[in-house]
Amino acid sequence: MEVSRFSGQAFLITGAASGIGRVLVEMLAEHGAALVLCDVDTERLEATRRALAETGRRVHAIAADVSSPDQVERMAAEAFRVAGPIGGLVNCAGIYPVTPLLEMAAEEWDRVLNTNLKGPFLVTQAVARRMIEARSGGSIVNISSSASRLARPGIAHYGASKAGLNQLTAVMAVELAPHGIRVNAVAPGLIGTDRVLAAARGPAGEAEHATKRARIPLGREGTPAEVADLVLFLLSPEASYCTGGVYAVDGGFTLGIPRY
Ligand code: NAD
Repeated sequence: MEVSRFSGQAFLITGAASGIGRVLVEMLAEHGAALVLCDVDTERLEATRRALAETGRRVHAIAADVSSPDQVERMAAEAFRVAGPIGGLVNCAGIYPVTPLLEMAAEEWDRVLNTNLKGPFLVTQAVARRMIEARSGGSIVNISSSASRLARPGIAHYGASKAGLNQLTAVMAVELAPHGIRVNAVAPGLIGTDRVLAAARGPAGEAEHATKRARIPLGREGTPAEVADLVLFLLSPEASYCTGGVYAVDGGFTLGIPRY
């Protein structure tokens, strides 16, 4: 793979301050991309920006809550102003609280749907309008989840938000195709981010993690870099005929029963 795969191109990544988003921006930067990082966590966002800037990368950070129409509009305007035409967007910001259905407050439901589903709608709308104005085309990748297909207790809001994101991806792909903008989703399974591995360390978490692992045909959790590799492909010209797809990167987690 060439080091300059994305040189001269600018990408906007939400949820860039942590986990999969953070690894993704590091990999895009290694391939020469100019980056605009967006996150609601201002401290981690600044730490991520600083770490990339110290290695000589072209990087801007804009704090914004993806569920706020005003903040998203301001963030998108600033992103195009500082980085020029943005050729790719990754909607990676997401939250995943776990609460049994019968105890779930409506406020928590709203928070999850607003972040994981309304957020990608708002950010994509603001960015796609500017891509169309620039006549640049583009590639948009939504980070979905195996939970969009696989039911498990405590994630009614999360599962619904990610299932909705899959269909939002399909409709956006249809509407934006005439403008040369491709839209795809990547659905990770169990990924060993710091947050997931920390949650797996307690006794309850350990049992849950082991149950999930036992269902994975490839027998292990994935790494953030394995998710990012697929995102890089979808952002690249090599994926020029891919739009509207939901691509699993889950070691076979969602296939069914791995063994008897
Ligand atoms: P993470 O918590 O490490 O990172 C998510 C980032 O999004 C954080 O930096 C957070 O501050 C930011 N964020 C949250 N709400 C925001 C908002 N309203 N506006 C802007 N930024 C916001 O999570 P992760 O595990 O890296 O997950 C990243 C994405 O991948 C999420 O969409 C998640 O649903 C999805 N995913 C993760 C896994 C996994 O196993 N880690 C599996 C499937 C899907």
